[in-house]
Amino acid sequence: MIRELAELGEKNRQNDTAGARLIHDALKEETMSIDLVINADGSFVQFIPFEKKTTAEAIFAKKGKARLLLDKAEEVLEYGGEKNKHKLFLDKLDEYKELKELEPVRLFYAQNKNNGLERARKEFEKQIPEKERSANIAFRLNKDQGKRIHEQQEVLQKIIEKREKWEKSELAKSVRLCSICGKNNHPVVDLPHGMIKNVPDGQKAGCALVSYNEKAYESYDLEGNLNSSICTHCAITYVEGLNWLLSNGQRKTDKKTKKDYMDYTNRKNLGNDTAILFWAKSNQPVNEIKLLDEPVEEDIFKLIQASPLTIKHKSRDEDVKGVLNSIQKGKADIVNNFSSDVFYSFTLSGAAARIAVRDWIETSLENVRLNIKQWFLDTAISKYENGTGHTVYQAIRNLAEACGTYLKKEKNGKDYYELDKKDPFVGRAGNILWGIALMGKKPPLNLLDRILRRIRLEGGRIYEDRAALIRLILNRNRGGNPMILEKLDSGNKQAAYVCGKIFAVLESIQYQALGDTNAGIRDRFFSAASLTPATTFGRLLKMTQHHLSKLRNEKPGLAINLDKDLQVLISQIHELPSVFNLEEQGQFAIGYYHKRQEIFNS
Ligand SMILES: [Zn+2]
Repeated sequence: MIRELAELGEKNRQNDTAGARLIHDALKEETMSIDLVINADGSFVQFIPFEKKTTAEAIFAKKGKARLLLDKAEEVLEYGGEKNKHKLFLDKLDEYKELKELEPVRLFYAQNKNNGLERARKEFEKQIPEKERSANIAFRLNKDQGKRIHEQQEVLQKIIEKREKWEKSELAKSVRLCSICGKNNHPVVDLPHGMIKNVPDGQKAGCALVSYNEKAYESYDLEGNLNSSICTHCAITYVEGLNWLLSNGQRKTDKKTKKDYMDYTNRKNLGNDTAILFWAKSNQPVNEIKLLDEPVEEDIFKLIQASPLTIKHKSRDEDVKGVLNSIQKGKADIVNNFSSDVFYSFTLSGAAARIAVRDWIETSLENVRLNIKQWFLDTAISKYENGTGHTVYQAIRNLAEACGTYLKKEKNGKDYYELDKKDPFVGRAGNILWGIALMGKKPPLNLLDRILRRIRLEGGRIYEDRAALIRLILNRNRGGNPMILEKLDSGNKQAAYVCGKIFAVLESIQYQALGDTNAGIRDRFFSAASLTPATTFGRLLKMTQHHLSKLRNEKPGLAINLDKDLQVLISQIHELPSVFNLEEQGQFAIGYYHKRQEIFNS
């Protein structure tokens, strides 16, 4: 996994075509928020707050280190009495004393200290509001507007020079092959890797994916061979790759709430404590994935109708020939491009300073596309609105929430249920469903158990998300049972499915005879009818005779039609079992959903 992340980071570096910044292991992109403007003689001019990305010295860890010319007020101004941090900063300046570009800064701290550092300290709290005082401060020359000292070419070159010298000396000490790139171009050292930012439930300062102390390597949440040596370069590229996956996207504003949010390109947040990250080896966007979150009917139809393989394949012979040729010519790129695009995904969660990684997926991109297509075929469900049935598709989040815990609430004397936002199962179900959608796997039956319990608890209320999930689970664990269609299936004679339909007709007869009663047949009997059909249906059919005779007096035509409908369905059942097993309870629920949609909404 680290190898794939390092490869992604490396690819992003190569694709950084803007060329605006110098890319080197010695340098890193940082945020700067305050300009400390000084004159050439080191005297203080003013602070200017702003926010911009910049390129500065890369340091291995923030603790016990200061960055050249770009750091926080504690380091730069000894703010808060941080003597040690300030000393680290001055020591770092001293390491670069041969650079003439640093002369004004040196004067600021030494010969012109009274007009420089001392005045800056006094002005800092006056000019910078408290909540902005923890940001990075950059030195900037008054006469040279726009030029910050740490951004000057000579300064950056010197940083690179020092880094390369250090790497050389480390390599001279011991030559070890990196377990990620397999090379010894860069040293393997006992220094912490970069921090991973933006991890759900993680520390604000960032978390470590691979973490070890000075003496011995230690692994957290990683197994066997991942717990081995990584060179300084791969340590940077995998951290960059992972940070990019966690943050890549666009800032958008929610139309309803007017709140800003990140529309992530390579990340899904399912539940509060986990993020799912994904990417294609070629780094091309996988547009189909967006549909899992925001199912747009039109796009799903296109996907379903598309030919199964959208990626053009060379014949196998051509492939093999290409590989042989490339080996002969020593060209690795053809070998690397030989296989079709690969898709990667994993789930990540933070636990204080560490990161836990689960569910690593590595498969071909075309396989993922086919699986997503199958996912929509299997979760499609018919819904009746204004008299016509049409196919609807659900977002994974809706399906995950359908498995969650709901709390009973009351409003204007009516009970209703609301999702318990603290329920951790929603996040877990989201992860499971994500894996199922991408890998075409069978959903576990415990999801069916959960959703059926929910439906029984709520007196038989089945919405399209619940029906869609039940259909998916039943069909993928089907065995010899008939396929559940997306809409009402008169050919499905499975006892439980037919019983579900009968239950919907009985509900309809009662509704027509008595109107909207407080505790109708659904609220009172759905649970029993779906668990113990033999005893419950005996009782229900007797009850229905009363409703039918009342209806025959009031609406004779309707009574005849409903009775006929009922008799046809009853004739399809040869024997009522005393109990329905879990799958049969699911078939019952779907039969009921299908028939009820038809009766009540058409
Ligand atoms: Zn390496």
